[in-house]
Amino acid sequence: MELVYRSTRNAQETATASEAILKGLANEGGLFVPDQIPALDVSFDELAKMDYKGVAYEVMKLMLTDFTEDELKACINGAYDAKFDDELFVPVKYHHGAYIMELFHGKTIAFKDMALSILPYLMTTAAKKNNINNDIVILTATSGDTGKAALAGFADVPGTKIAVFYPKNGVSPVQEKQMVTERGKNTFVAGITGNFDDAQTGVKKMFQDKELAAELSAAGYQFSSANSINIGRLVPQMVYYVYGYTRLIAAGKIKAGDKINVVVPTGNFGNILASYYASLMGMPVNKFICASNDNKVLYDFFTTGTYDRNRDFILTTSPSMDILISSNLERLIYRIAGNDAEKNAALMKELNETGKYTITDEMKKNLDCFYGNFASTDEVAAEIKAVYDEDGYVMDTHTAVAAAVYDAYKKDSGDDETPTLLASTASPYKFARSVMTALDADYDKQTDFELIDSLKKVSGVAIPQAIEDIRSAEVLHKTVCDKEDMPAVVKSFLDIQ
Ligand SMILES: *Cc1c(COP(=O)(O)O)cnc(C)c1O
Repeated sequence: MELVYRSTRNAQETATASEAILKGLANEGGLFVPDQIPALDVSFDELAKMDYKGVAYEVMKLMLTDFTEDELKACINGAYDAKFDDELFVPVKYHHGAYIMELFHGKTIAFKDMALSILPYLMTTAAKKNNINNDIVILTATSGDTGKAALAGFADVPGTKIAVFYPKNGVSPVQEKQMVTERGKNTFVAGITGNFDDAQTGVKKMFQDKELAAELSAAGYQFSSANSINIGRLVPQMVYYVYGYTRLIAAGKIKAGDKINVVVPTGNFGNILASYYASLMGMPVNKFICASNDNKVLYDFFTTGTYDRNRDFILTTSPSMDILISSNLERLIYRIAGNDAEKNAALMKELNETGKYTITDEMKKNLDCFYGNFASTDEVAAEIKAVYDEDGYVMDTHTAVAAAVYDAYKKDSGDDETPTLLASTASPYKFARSVMTALDADYDKQTDFELIDSLKKVSGVAIPQAIEDIRSAEVLHKTVCDKEDMPAVVKSFLDIQ
């Protein structure tokens, strides 16, 4: 049976999975959601015997029903290969009372690689299936990690071009260097004089700009998205939760059917939503623990039922979570509103016009399985140090937000002993200064690359290729623009007058 995707803002707008991947965003700014999430049709005990790619196929075949088995397996095999520096792809390690899923063993050492390694394959397969002759232009706003992961995925993929916008002063030095040294001939990178929300809003505006779409079409182009608003990002992210759950079975830590908690350091709400979707597929979850940094809109939302972005945007040591408009929350709102596009659209209109909205008590009841909390920058530093002192494991700042919030959850829940999977979203090498100064303030005297060498000494973990690659790489992208100028720079990148 074909799974139907539908816009969260207009029940009449439907798409197949491949059409939804191609479009990225629905009309009127809606997001595509599946009408239902099919149940896994293989037992957990069987899944526990499969490798990552085997689990990926079993999960993705249920969500991307208009892809053939051959197409899907070709996408999976193309994506998950020696680009990853761990043959398990997602090793699960026990530290600080949680099973830590290291999601950062891909090309750009952030969890975005898990989905962005496969998205170009899904996208080009979808274009073929739908007889698209235009080149696909991937438009991407990034808080730091999506940008390079998308560039790495789409670089020199025939039939595609990619433009990335990042907040000029809102990413780590390693993140920026990774992006501006990108060599793919079909790539374009620009810093904007604003924050991530400005970049994301600018990109969403371009998607909805009918005049721009017509100009693009005349030149043989059409837009799509590599952000987690694209269902082609979310579906591959469901895979590692099912994989992580079945690794706990394989290791004898739980039995098939036992509940687990998941802890996710959250920004745009894509990663944690993927875990929620995985639970709808059958993975038993006790609590979804949503961890925020000082930009704690989601914590406030889960505690009060009011989403309010009217506040200062705070630059933290976990920049990939510095977000005030968590786009994917819309998919959860739609669901707890009873899959009601009209109700959801009204709330999103309020968000757009007043910067906030409040859900009904009835809707709020459906959020009981979520626990939200946040960790301040100081708490994150203390957590990195505490975990390191325990057993020498060094975590990055985003993962440490999750670990600190998990500590708070344990206290609040009266020591809930449910086995817990914690999503580790980046390698500490990506945020070496914040990580090393958390261990000892004196490290602040070192240069960025001295810090890399020091991190190797204290952690004993080999320096990832992604870091070696940028040591001597030449800066190739120097554009900086205002958010108003984003359409103009995209047109100039595409040689449209
Ligand atoms: C993107 C990112 C996050 C936030 O993930 P969302 O899916 O946007 O909630 C957390 N940590 C790191 C390192 C990231 O790159």
